Parts: sequence; structure tokens; C-alpha cells
Amino acid sequence: MKQEKNIPYKIYLEEDEMPKSWYNMRADMKTKPAPLLNPGTLQPMTFDELRGVFCDELVRQELDDTTAYIEIPAEIRDFYRMYRPSPLVRAYCLEEKLQTPAKIYYKFEGNNTSGSHKLNSAIAQAYYAKKQGLKGVTTETGAGQWGTALSMACAYLGLDCKVYMVKVSYEQKPFRREVMRTYGASVTPSPSETTNVGRKILAEHPGTTGSLGCAISEAVEAATSNEGYRYVLGSVLNQVLLHQSVIGLETKTAMDKYGIEPDIIIGCAGGGSNLGGLISPFMGQKLRGEKDYRFIAVEPASCPSFTRGKFAYDFCDTGMICPLAKMYTLGSGFIPSPNHAGGLRFHGMSSTLSQLYHDGYMEAVAVEQTSVFEAAEQFARVEGILPAPESAHAIRAAIDEALKCKETGEEKTILFGLTGTGYFDMVAYEKFHDGAMTDYIPTDEDLQKGFDGLPKVDK
Ligand SMILES: *Cc1c(COP(=O)(O)O)cnc(C)c1O
Repeated sequence: MKQEKNIPYKIYLEEDEMPKSWYNMRADMKTKPAPLLNPGTLQPMTFDELRGVFCDELVRQELDDTTAYIEIPAEIRDFYRMYRPSPLVRAYCLEEKLQTPAKIYYKFEGNNTSGSHKLNSAIAQAYYAKKQGLKGVTTETGAGQWGTALSMACAYLGLDCKVYMVKVSYEQKPFRREVMRTYGASVTPSPSETTNVGRKILAEHPGTTGSLGCAISEAVEAATSNEGYRYVLGSVLNQVLLHQSVIGLETKTAMDKYGIEPDIIIGCAGGGSNLGGLISPFMGQKLRGEKDYRFIAVEPASCPSFTRGKFAYDFCDTGMICPLAKMYTLGSGFIPSPNHAGGLRFHGMSSTLSQLYHDGYMEAVAVEQTSVFEAAEQFARVEGILPAPESAHAIRAAIDEALKCKETGEEKTILFGLTGTGYFDMVAYEKFHDGAMTDYIPTDEDLQKGFDGLPKVDK
């Protein structure tokens, strides 16, 4: 392995170099992300309306688009210390394999039992629920990482945790479910008979394997109909991007320490939380006109919210009981093809990232799943880490950029987010190895059905 002088394979920060505040990108945005709207009145959701669903402090964070730095409570920092700082790795072995002049770095968030970056926000959300004296929280989970992370955080703080898990994942990933139950969570396959909205969806679509939007509806109903419970969400919301800024802040500190400046910053995008977190401090510089970077969001070609979606107000859930968010969306009725294996299946996208993309601060690419698994395998064989399929979307784009550098001879510095590990995704890997994986790209007609269901909002 050819190593550059002074740049170690892994860069770890000291504990006292870890961030003490989260950074709120919205404070530096000239055009703020559009507010959440009440679906009945189409007026911006107020603090009082939101606090029936979310914890008070999290509502404050959700609505705050002016405070740049928000202190991380000491208790959350203590929890972070159990698994952070996460390493920033120089992908020397991948560079050598690709024979690229590019310098590749990745921030690895998979070094905790939940296996992803989701724990960064789970502990924050559970902490504020606990502090408010609540009994517990409800949530949805798709692939299972968020439910696992939240179960861990709730176990640590002694909170009850009710997880609605998309039925197809519940059946395909029984071990994820058992991890959650080990941490004391109750796990219900969604749609279920336990909620009104679940029963309604089951009646309309018998045999459905569920979707994230549908599980969200059930979890929200469970929170609002149980005394002492609130709903929490693992992605999409402004508050989640805020908590995930810890990823970018650590990365920036580590890079500054070694005088490294990224040219291109890449992240996979499901609801946008890891990407939003990773780019935060760098995007802040770009928004303030201090520096320029290329930011690339990578999404599955089978669920292409940024690259083929509409920038419009839409529901975050299938049951249409949640507030409306303005975002790049495929419509709340969109459900990715069942042969899509790689996660990142939410129909919408963070409002903050949507606004930044709309304003030209960010690019997006869509990649097909077999090429994603090819990248995952190539990466695993040289860098050793078995990546989550979601993370492998970012690997795909990073390799593609590195190969472009090989053609042009440019020594660009590429940074990407390696959000998690793929131990629970072996069914998808198996499909890939057996040659049974297909690439399904929705047609314009498929997408039109989703767009036809967009609410008519003139904003
Ligand atoms: C949830 C998840 C994602 C996608 O969610 P974002 O909110 O877009 O970050 C990506 N990678 C892993 C490992 C995840 O668990």
C-alpha cells in the first residue's frame, strides 16, 4: 500500500476534538426550506400543532432556521463517546486498485451495533423525549437500521419503543427484528390491523408488502392515540439533518488537521439525513461564499426522487395524515418495484436538501442496483468493510468520479459517506451473486401515477 506522507490510513479525532454543537445549515441559506404545511388549512404548521406529534424540543429544532449552532447536551455527547468519533479513512487500497490519481476518503459510520449513522439522531430524539417525561416513542423502519438505532437509544434511556416495520423487510430481515427485540422494542409488521390507517390500507390493497409512507402513517397514529407517546422519524426532517451534522463536523475537523481539502463530496440519499449531515459544514462555507465544493447526491434509479421527481408540496406518508413538506417527490403513493433491494426507498427527500438542489448548490445522480452491488463488492474486497447497499450507492459514484480522474489525470480529492455495514443485507447480496438481481427503472407512465396523487397546493 502506497501511503502519502503524513496522511494515515485512518484519521481518528481525540475525544476533546469532537463537536460540542450541531451545525444548522438552514441558518446560512438565503432561500430557506419551505415550511411544513397543515394539510387541512395549508398554513405553516405552528409549534402548538406540531407538539402533539413530536417532542417539544425537537419541534423547536425543526422550526429554527436562524440559529447556526445548537449545543449538544452533555448526556448526548456521553453517548456519542461510546461509538464516536468515527474514523475518516483514506481509501489507499481502493485508489491503488483503480489506478486513479484521485485521493479518496470515506467517513465510516458503521462502527456501532445498529450498523449505521442513524444512531446519531436516535439518541438525540430519545433524549429529548425522556427529558420531556414521556413514556415512549413510536416510529417506522424500512430496512431496519433506524428501528435498531432507536431501540438502542431507548434501551439506554429506559424509554418504551414501538416500531412499525415495513412488512416486506419484516419478513426478509428477521434478524433485524430480533436485534430490536433484544433492545426491548416491540416490532409490528406494517400495514397492520393495530391502527385505523393500517386497516384502511389493508382493505384497499390486500396483500400489500407495505411501504415506508404507510408505516409512517401507522406510527403517527400510534403516537397520537397513546398517552405519553410521541412520534420520531429517522430521516427527512430538518432536526435529523441537524443531529447528523456531527458526521460532517468531525470530518471537517479531521481534514483541517491534516490540511486536506475535498473537491467533491458524495453521499447516498434516501431521505437525505446522512448526506445533509456530511455536507453541512462544507455547504455552510459554500453558502457563505467562502469556498466552493461539488456535492453529489446518489439515489437508486428505481426510486429517483431528485433526478426525476417534482419539487412540490407532498405528504410524507401514504395515509396522508402527516404535514405537507415541499420537496423533490415521486408522490406519496409511489412504491418502488419489489425487486429493488438496496434501501433508499422513500418517495420524498429532505426539504433542506431539496431547496439546495433546486437552487443549484448540489448535483444528483441515479444509479442502477447491479452496478451498486458491483461497487460494493469491489470495495469490500480491497477495503475490507462489507458495505450496506445504501452506502454502496455513494461508493458507486465515488468510483465513477475516481475513474474520470484516471482519464483526465486530475488529482481530485473525493470524500464520501460510508453510512453503514451490510451484514443484514445478505439476501440482496445473494441475489446479486446468483445473477438474480435485475435493474428496474420506472417508466414515465409509472411515475405519472405518483405525480397524479400530489396534493394541489399553490405554493
Ligand atoms: C437509512 C440509511 C441511509 C439513507 O438514509 P438518509 O436519511 O438518506 O441518510 C443510508 N445508509 C444507511 C446505512 C442507512 O441506514
